[in-house]
Amino acid sequence: MPDVKYVVVTGGVVSGLGKGCATAALGALIARNKKVVTIKCDGYLNVDPGTINPYEHGEVYVLEDGGEVDMDFGHYERFLNINCKFSWNITSGKIFNSLITKERKGEFLGKTIQIFPHVIDEVKQWWKRIVQEEQPDFCFIEIGGTVGDCENFWFVEAARQLRSDVGNNNIFYAHLTYVPFLPSVGEPKTKPAQRDVALLREKGIIPDVLLCRSTTPLEDKIKSKLALFCNLESRQVVSVPDVKTIYELPLVLKRDGVLAIVQEKLAISAGDLTRWEKLVTTILNPHDRVTIALCGKYTDLRDSYASVVEALVHAGAHLNCGIDVTLVETTSVAAEQFADLHAHGILVPGGFGSRGVEGKITIIQHAREKRIPYLGICLGLQLAVIEFARNVCGLAGANTTEIDQNTPHPVVTFLPGQTEHTAKGGTMRLGACTSQLVQESLVAHLYQKETAVERHRHRYEVNPAYHRQFTTHGMVLSGLTPEKQLVEFIELPNHPYFVATQAHNEFTSRLEQPNPLFLGFVQAALAYKKAGRIL
Ligand code: GLN
Repeated sequence: MPDVKYVVVTGGVVSGLGKGCATAALGALIARNKKVVTIKCDGYLNVDPGTINPYEHGEVYVLEDGGEVDMDFGHYERFLNINCKFSWNITSGKIFNSLITKERKGEFLGKTIQIFPHVIDEVKQWWKRIVQEEQPDFCFIEIGGTVGDCENFWFVEAARQLRSDVGNNNIFYAHLTYVPFLPSVGEPKTKPAQRDVALLREKGIIPDVLLCRSTTPLEDKIKSKLALFCNLESRQVVSVPDVKTIYELPLVLKRDGVLAIVQEKLAISAGDLTRWEKLVTTILNPHDRVTIALCGKYTDLRDSYASVVEALVHAGAHLNCGIDVTLVETTSVAAEQFADLHAHGILVPGGFGSRGVEGKITIIQHAREKRIPYLGICLGLQLAVIEFARNVCGLAGANTTEIDQNTPHPVVTFLPGQTEHTAKGGTMRLGACTSQLVQESLVAHLYQKETAVERHRHRYEVNPAYHRQFTTHGMVLSGLTPEKQLVEFIELPNHPYFVATQAHNEFTSRLEQPNPLFLGFVQAALAYKKAGRIL
């Protein structure tokens, strides 16, 4: 069996340079159609990243197995067409916890337990166990934070040692650094990157490529200067300027010669990026454009809806359509504001708590009545059900018990006993669930299957006591869980596109394989635009 190829990605100077994107882009470039695992090492001491305040690291990304992880896993999955596992997210907390548990059990026979060698060995054992279990062709290891942070020291040291464990021809080190442009002097400054690489060398790692983030492409003379002072060849200094779409990144890396360097060192064959390139060209020069109103909370960063925005982009890329997202503040939405939205489709994404909910319900009513394409995700389904209950079924005061415990019509409610399979995350339904789709429904047509598997992250469900009332008033419950008959998909047949799901279908969308509901939604938005109507 051929050796597993390891690619280690570290970062320096500042955080927030897009190391997750860079790792994913490297993967798309060198490991296309290969079996890949992507391990992310975070320095913090939380044993379970799922228990960190969801918005501290941008969006909470949910994996197939129910693991709640950060946005980097979204990049890995979207660029590499893979389904990551929760166990691939390693934190210092997990490492120490495991080590201390072993020590308490007496597994070290009274020896002194130290950072060297025990913590470092533990890290390597975790990596090797994943590789053992998955038998991949490539193992990507991204080390969070920046080199020199005390809290990721053991990961950097383990990465250094890995070279002698697996052999120089089986490991590739990529380091992401920063070359700031100083407007006052009118040139890019290389000193931070020089110092950064010196620090990395001090830790014993010599990068095979230095990925230089900057606002504009680096000129050759800057590359040569960096190469000289970092002890590298010029071709190892790679320019990674700002891009219009992150999906350009694999192509940017390829253009700057990264593939050749990797191939030389790891003796691998290249994948074919033709299809990827075509999709990127479409994203950059689409034939048409639509505007989608994304109805979230105004204060949330765009990062909070990263996967939703990406899923829209994926669908657009396959329909030759650019996507303009307008973030709509729903805490103060009034009907007269709709005229200013200029949107061809309305999307209500997931959310928690009561803020902005009534505004979202008003927008959903508008979408339903004015026949504007609507896609509801998780909370977006629950609110669509509430709107329908109130305004079509005549159930005044209908609500979700998450917001109103005393509602006369709890059309969305907490169902006791629904969470027996969810060890993590307390009472949330987390991870992938299969639903049975209703034949002839729009949802079944879009998935082109009898079942759909989508990921979940929510507590409340459509109340089964009201299913009959909804269907007699014309709502189609187009997908239900096979055993418990929980509502997974709804649609309104007498509407161009009114579809919602209890799942977070944005998490299964990939550039090369858009999610079916997003595809249908963008297509409907395009049709809406072509019909000359604008919201
Ligand atoms: N707050 C709702 C629930 O817990 C919806 C959650 C979500 O949209 N992810 O059920």
